[in-house]
Amino acid sequence: MSKRDYYEVLGVDRSASQDEIKRAYRKLARKYHPDVNKDDPQAEEKFKEITEAYEVLSDPDKRARYDQFGHADPGAGSAGFGGGFSGGFSEGGFDFGGFGDIFDMFFGGGGRRGPVRGQDLEYELEVSFEEAAFGVERDIQVPRMETCSTCGGSGARPGTRVERCPACQGTGEQQTVVNTPFGRMVNRKTCSVCRGRGVRIPNPCSDCGGSGRRRVRRTVRIKVPAGVDTGTRLRMPGAGESSPNGGPPGDLHIVVRVKPHDVFERDGDNVIVDVPLSFVQAALGDEIEVPTLDGPVKLRIPEGTQTGTFFRLRGKGIPHLGNPSVRGDQHVRVHVITPTRLTDRQRELLRELGRELGETPQEQSRTFIERMKSAFLGDHAR
Ligand SMILES: [Zn+2]
Ligand SMILES: [Zn+2]
Repeated sequence: MSKRDYYEVLGVDRSASQDEIKRAYRKLARKYHPDVNKDDPQAEEKFKEITEAYEVLSDPDKRARYDQFGHADPGAGSAGFGGGFSGGFSEGGFDFGGFGDIFDMFFGGGGRRGPVRGQDLEYELEVSFEEAAFGVERDIQVPRMETCSTCGGSGARPGTRVERCPACQGTGEQQTVVNTPFGRMVNRKTCSVCRGRGVRIPNPCSDCGGSGRRRVRRTVRIKVPAGVDTGTRLRMPGAGESSPNGGPPGDLHIVVRVKPHDVFERDGDNVIVDVPLSFVQAALGDEIEVPTLDGPVKLRIPEGTQTGTFFRLRGKGIPHLGNPSVRGDQHVRVHVITPTRLTDRQRELLRELGRELGETPQEQSRTFIERMKSAFLGDHAR
């Protein structure tokens, strides 16, 4: 399920002021508060949705980030993604019908049901490690429902006319009037004959079968910003499916997946690289070349470097999503390789070195042995 747009949830404009947002939230919160909707399990979900939307939109910082990234905001800790996505292509649900019914229950009247927003679409996009770091532009093929170009969405064959639905008199709704102890209640539901479109089409358009929409494979250019990671969601407003009845189109949600890299590993905005060192290099120090996202970089290994030591290359990591001028670091982790398959001469040299170093353990291992002792004997024995 894709998440609904927060502005949509609160029913406010993208340019709405803080006051308008607050008013919209208060109104909806009163309506869906679980205390006044004990019999309606949907109300609690709505209430949570409204509250979440308000928490983001009422905070200028969070709102600015939401405007830029939608639900993809890495700072918002979107735990929503992870398990559910099945890969490939799926259509996000939009529960406008349910919303409408609840609304009608409360307001009884209120006129014709408004245009419905088109469905949201979700698309998984695989990018390379480098593309995720620096951003990329990609053309993807998105199959989606669009307004039929032959009939312009009317559903009628060109040259023929659309008639008013006789079942609902063109209102798109069927009404039932119920008498309750509190008075007459008007219940409205979508006309089952015309499915809410309010029209009858005697000569349906042959290209769309009268629905006014057609499934079209459309090429959409995706601008993947620098710094995305697996699970990042990018929202393309209006690139989803068109509305069945003249409403706004839905959004296209791109879910990013980053392919693993042979050399680089990622930890947030930092890059980790493992580099082997000979034990001579580790003991005597050396200058080595290390791969980075910007190409090879020289790194000085100091004398007496231990295996597992990290060296930091500042600013050689991943550009921060939403603020690419700030980059993470690269951490170089060195591994001292013990030599194998020695020649007789090498063996002799090592033995000589061993005699020279003597039985005295080096400082690091001495501390280690002392720690071991106190671990076995307990602190009181010290
Ligand atoms: Zn058509
Ligand atoms: Zn009808």
